[in-house]
Amino acid sequence: MNEDSIIQMKKSFRKLDERRLKLLDEPEIQELRDRVTRIREESVRNMDKLLRTARKTFTENGVEFHLAADADEACSLISGIVAGEDAVAKSKSNALSEIGLSGHLRDRGMEVVETDLGDRILQLAGESRPAHPVGPALHLSTGEIAGIVREKMGVHVADDPLEIMAAVKSDVLRRLESCSTGITGANSVAAYDGSAVIVHNEGNIGRLSLMDTHIMVFGIDRLVPTLEDAVSVVKLETVYATGTRVPSYINVISGPSKTADIEKMLIRGMYGPDRVVAIALDNGRSSAPAESLLCIGCGSCIVSCPVYGSVGNRFGYRGYLGGRGAVLRRYLDDGEGAVESGLYMCTLCRLCSEKCPVSLPTADLVEMVRAECQRKGLSRRAHREIAERIRKRGSPL
Ligand code: SF4
Ligand code: SF4
Repeated sequence: MNEDSIIQMKKSFRKLDERRLKLLDEPEIQELRDRVTRIREESVRNMDKLLRTARKTFTENGVEFHLAADADEACSLISGIVAGEDAVAKSKSNALSEIGLSGHLRDRGMEVVETDLGDRILQLAGESRPAHPVGPALHLSTGEIAGIVREKMGVHVADDPLEIMAAVKSDVLRRLESCSTGITGANSVAAYDGSAVIVHNEGNIGRLSLMDTHIMVFGIDRLVPTLEDAVSVVKLETVYATGTRVPSYINVISGPSKTADIEKMLIRGMYGPDRVVAIALDNGRSSAPAESLLCIGCGSCIVSCPVYGSVGNRFGYRGYLGGRGAVLRRYLDDGEGAVESGLYMCTLCRLCSEKCPVSLPTADLVEMVRAECQRKGLSRRAHREIAERIRKRGSPL
């Protein structure tokens, strides 16, 4: 991110914060926050049990359920399912960006159609990292986005959000005609019901979940006990992520499309998919500290983080932005990766935890991972790099 992008990002963050602050003091929202904190704490404590339950319930509901130990296994499962297809459609998802799915499929000659407007803009711009979990391109101004669309899509659009949206939409819809598989994440997953809950505003998930095959990928930390719990989680996520009470859509996916209207014979694939696949991703989560898995993915922490506000998405790991991303990388990747993701940029100010709906203790986790890196000698390199930055730029960032 350059300086202009950071200024633009902070402008967008301010707007988001103003909208959100109006809601946060409402007693119903405070009550929801307490409830979701209890749900998340109970869920990460019982992750193994929830995983066993989810395997059983999803399978009973007619969903193929897989547990992928790591990113390679998740990507192999997906490329096996979509083998022979020329193009697949996908939505915005941290789990999909964590496993590097788009690159994996493109390396195999497949077109990956990004359906989220912000993600599609980043794809056209050749950028791989979002600025915010629900606003991937909010570091770009309308004029910059229009310029990207004109240059990369070869269509004329004015510096006007409506024109940009119309141009990208018609291009994506045309590309979707050649896709029969939709790949999405899931915001929260109800183990006892065998249901995945996915929120969106654009309507793209609705389309993807109705394709012939729908694949959902989610971290095992997304599991909660019931559908009611999952809906509570996504409601709170929406309040903190967008400053609105509810998203335009909450999709609940509990199985393939089916009908029994002819002699009570069950037939799959009426208007929606005849194949639904759920891939639960471990990728280091089962060895991560429970507190690091409480997250509901709202992005509130980065809006208030002074370091993120200065350096942008250099601080974090793929879609997991800010201090929590650096910590998570230690478990999803390795300690050296955590250092590269900004482990030593964190000032331990704890503002992120104050603004976090589930009070995730990022600074404590940063200190814990730093102590481990120090034991492995990784901190010496980080300190050398910081000293070099201060020498060259006059700043440690
Ligand atoms: S503790 Fe670290 S990650 Fe959290 S707001 Fe402060 S600088 Fe950012
Ligand atoms: S750590 Fe907290 S504030 Fe940050 S994304 Fe997760 S739930 Fe939201």
